[in-house]
Amino acid sequence: MLYPIWGIQLSPILAGLAMAPSSVSVVANNLRLGRYRPERAVKGARDMARDPVCQMDVDPKSAAAQSKYQGQTYYFCAVECKVKFDSDPGKYLAK
Ligand SMILES: [Zn+2]
Repeated sequence: MLYPIWGIQLSPILAGLAMAPSSVSVVANNLRLGRYRPERAVKGARDMARDPVCQMDVDPKSAAAQSKYQGQTYYFCAVECKVKFDSDPGKYLAK
């Protein structure tokens, strides 16, 4: 009879399966938390716009200000940068 052996072999596996949902979610949480910043940084680098005034990387979605100049939208870290830019866009785009 294989059944008793199966029973012995299965029980640790079943115990492991019973534990799995909680340990999987813990691992998933750790992965999500651990990956959150790097993922944002890597992906963000591509999505980031550069503030032409202070050269800071600005997330367009959370930019403090934006300005359209010659069909291009520029994003600013602060309203002060937008004001400076608007007063003399060529100065900041000449670089
Ligand atoms: Zn700025």
